[in-house]
Amino acid sequence: MTTPVGASAPSDLAARLSAIDDRIADSARAAGRSPAEITRIVVTKFHPASLVRDLHALGVHAVGENRQQELTAKAGELSALDLEWHFIGQGQTNKAAAIRRSADVVHSVDRDRFADALHRAAETDEVLDVLVQVNLTEDEGRGGVAPASAVALAEHVLSLPSLRLRGVMAVAPLDEDPASAFARLHHIAADVRTVAPDATWISAGMTGDFAEAIAAGATHLRIGSAITGPRPARG
Ligand SMILES: *Cc1c(COP(=O)(O)O)cnc(C)c1O
Repeated sequence: MTTPVGASAPSDLAARLSAIDDRIADSARAAGRSPAEITRIVVTKFHPASLVRDLHALGVHAVGENRQQELTAKAGELSALDLEWHFIGQGQTNKAAAIRRSADVVHSVDRDRFADALHRAAETDEVLDVLVQVNLTEDEGRGGVAPASAVALAEHVLSLPSLRLRGVMAVAPLDEDPASAFARLHHIAADVRTVAPDATWISAGMTGDFAEAIAAGATHLRIGSAITGPRPARG
């Protein structure tokens, strides 16, 4: 029997998932934190819905996607499963309604206009959980608001009643020690809490840097390839 490229047996998936959960628990305890205060989101981008189904069968609840079309398709196909969909990609204003329809949490609110578009897309009186994404790099082209503007963006989100600000999100720069980048994020999160005391989430940490993120107070980890295996090439 051959396994298609990019796919893996469910038993491998189970082994990788439990290995990562063990490492998360170890990192939490090493940082003097309880593993129970950390949510592990499995990033399933580029993988088929069948992989999300396998993860669900292993007890995974929170999954992350970074493209609206993929989010819409998978969340639609798997709507019978009890899954929580986290949108972690750069959001286009004209896709906000579609994102809002499928996502339970949007991590990547990086400008007033995107927040406004998500707010306008509310179809019911349900409130959408969102995070302000902060750009920790020097490159303005990267996703996220500049650190100096994070509080102003948070205040804008607070003015939109259909959005509930839960905290901040960031990706560590490639050319910096993640520990120092996440230390900055920790301070920015504290600044945001001065205007939004309930915004206690810190979404940080991926396959390569989740231990550093946990040490810096991350509450939500976004882990992809260490659990799913390598991502298939995009068609
Ligand atoms: C893809 C992605 C991840 C997961 O990356 P891995 O290195 O595979 O764990 C986390 N966050 C964001 C924003 C991503 O796009």
